[in-house]
Amino acid sequence: MKSLLDIYSLSFSEIEEILILAENLKEILGRPIPKVPTLRGKQVLLLFYEPSTRTKFSFERACKVLSADLMSFSAKGSSIEKGETLLDTVKNLCALGVNLIVIRHPLSGTPHFLSKHIPIPIVNAGDGRHEHPTQALLDLLTVKEKLGTLSDLKVAIIGDIKHSRVAHSDILAFQKMGSQVFVSGPAHLLPEPKEQAFFEIKPRGFRVCYKMEEALKGADVVMALRIQRERHGEALIPSLLEYAQTFGLNKKTLEIIKEKALLMHPGPINWGVELSFELENYPFQVILDQVENGVAIRMAVLLKLLSGD
Ligand code: ASP
Repeated sequence: MKSLLDIYSLSFSEIEEILILAENLKEILGRPIPKVPTLRGKQVLLLFYEPSTRTKFSFERACKVLSADLMSFSAKGSSIEKGETLLDTVKNLCALGVNLIVIRHPLSGTPHFLSKHIPIPIVNAGDGRHEHPTQALLDLLTVKEKLGTLSDLKVAIIGDIKHSRVAHSDILAFQKMGSQVFVSGPAHLLPEPKEQAFFEIKPRGFRVCYKMEEALKGADVVMALRIQRERHGEALIPSLLEYAQTFGLNKKTLEIIKEKALLMHPGPINWGVELSFELENYPFQVILDQVENGVAIRMAVLLKLLSGD
């Protein structure tokens, strides 16, 4: 693995290796002093062109635990404002000794573009509506820990599937590990037929359901997604209130999932929209476990990409 650009190009065994490494690395996080010298002397650049709380902070934490040096870049206040291109900016930052770049960018494909022109590893921390591979890996780790398996599960993803990079990475990741993914949401927010064919990587591994109940019935894992209004351009749903009434999850809509099915969300959550307030105390809600697992997954990815050179 030279870079981590998407789940699409990862094999079953590459995913499994990252998950096993992350499971082992969790032990370090439980120590009284969670710090090891493994990546001492390595410089990691965080290049975030979009807001982020969980992803950015957990990459920072992963770097600190592994003793890598962190450089944080914000487009505001940089020469980008004077017209410098992304590629020139990155080339200049590389000349300052960076060993790996973590990038989040609103334009799909930006990490792939950079990886063609920059000789150091690139990690995609979310590119437009395309993919968010480390989120999918931390979701897999959470399900594996809680349910003991990643195969033969029914995973239901509910919401703005079309514009969600998390949905795209998760649809591919869960199928690659041997589970079935059912997606549902307002018709305008579901993938179009051409995209559906792209996401189906296993026969019968992926299903688009126009009725939410079909996706939820007997599910082992339910993931709710935020409506990605920043990517809509025009109004695609009448109102958030109406969305909450039709596709919002609550105790009643979850009555048809398996008894101990997990409830997940990548965050940020709009409580009262995709999840009702009462679900904050749902016994099998694992949203903060996902966040916690984000650190171990990002440590594993940094180690895999940096410890070889
Ligand atoms: N935090 C996730 C992302 O960056 C999900 C979201 O924003 O809704 O894609």
